[in-house]
Amino acid sequence: MSRDAAKVGELLKRAQRVLFITGAGVSAESQIPTFRGATAAFADGMTEDGLPFEEVLSAETFRDNPALSWKYLARLELSIRGKLPNAAHAVMAGLQTPRREVFIATQNIDELHQRAGSRNVFELHGNLRRIICTRCDYRVHLETYESLAKLPRCPRCEALLRPDVVLYGETLPMDVLDAFQKEQAKGFDLFFSVGTTSLFFYVAEPILAAARRGTPVVEINPEATPVSHLADYRFAEPAGQTLQSLVQQAP
Ligand code: NAD
Ligand code: ZN
Repeated sequence: MSRDAAKVGELLKRAQRVLFITGAGVSAESQIPTFRGATAAFADGMTEDGLPFEEVLSAETFRDNPALSWKYLARLELSIRGKLPNAAHAVMAGLQTPRREVFIATQNIDELHQRAGSRNVFELHGNLRRIICTRCDYRVHLETYESLAKLPRCPRCEALLRPDVVLYGETLPMDVLDAFQKEQAKGFDLFFSVGTTSLFFYVAEPILAAARRGTPVVEINPEATPVSHLADYRFAEPAGQTLQSLVQQAP
């Protein structure tokens, strides 16, 4: 056990409000591919249709060519189907105790944090299993997309259905952001950034703010990221084993 790990274990032991900012890397050990990074689904950023993944999964493409967006949304669903939470999800859920609140702001859309038992999860990019109507208030939670047509329509009003996820070019869900901001205002005593490239300001901003305030920031990611220089403690290792060894010091 390194000195840094022992220190973070000690901080965890004392912390009463912990925030984890998580990205696709947290689910990598559940065999769900990330988009970017070494083991990514779109290593060079391109889809087989010759377009970048940000384009096929954009609001504009969904409006002009929904069949193309649905093709890749269905691929994403296949990549999470039947996948289970891993050690990283389990450790974060296990840290919740009557005297320690744990919050998770995730970019993931796979629901694995909730399945592991985490109660305070801000789904910044929505949830792929939640299907909503583009016109009326119809919504349904689906375990898989097997029952859906390729271009599914609302059983109530016939308008196009879509997953309740944030497509590229869309704004984040206001209610989720509001709830997240309320907790940020109350403050945290320990920050983690785990398995995220942290490209988006709403993920990078809380880390910048924490660093400014002197709140300890821990990063767990095998690759360096744009916020690595802000981390007080950095573990260039996979999330699961690292978190497991950190909590062994913080029952
Ligand atoms: P990202 O910014 O989360 O990048 C993935 C990061 O994970 C990289 O920095 C990589 O170094 C790191 N990583 C890889 N394996 C790891 C491990 N074992 N432990 C810790 N870190 C690890 O996001 P992205 O992949 O570029 O995807 C963009 C967006 O697409 C996400 O924000 C998300 O909304 C969506 N997405 C979701 C899922 C999911 O729900 N599981 C999967 C892929 C993409
Ligand atoms: Zn409808």
